[in-house]
Amino acid sequence: MDHRKARKIYWLCLLIGSIVMVLGALVPDEILQKIIMGVGMAIYIIGFIVAFCFIRCPYCRGALDWRGFSPDYCQHCGKKI
Ligand SMILES: [Zn+2]
Repeated sequence: MDHRKARKIYWLCLLIGSIVMVLGALVPDEILQKIIMGVGMAIYIIGFIVAFCFIRCPYCRGALDWRGFSPDYCQHCGKKI
């Protein structure tokens, strides 16, 4: 997986995870609320795991900045990515 695709998945997981957690908070049933919020949290965590594993330079494996857009050059080795 390249770092651009990983970044998209990361943002998507954060977005979907947030929506699921907000929807979960609106559910009147307490047990169901905990389950839905747990699922939202899991999606959120998956996003962070994907970011941690795959938002990296393909040359030096250095971690790239997770925020904002994909950089054109690696901040560690300076290669075009
Ligand atoms: Zn690099």
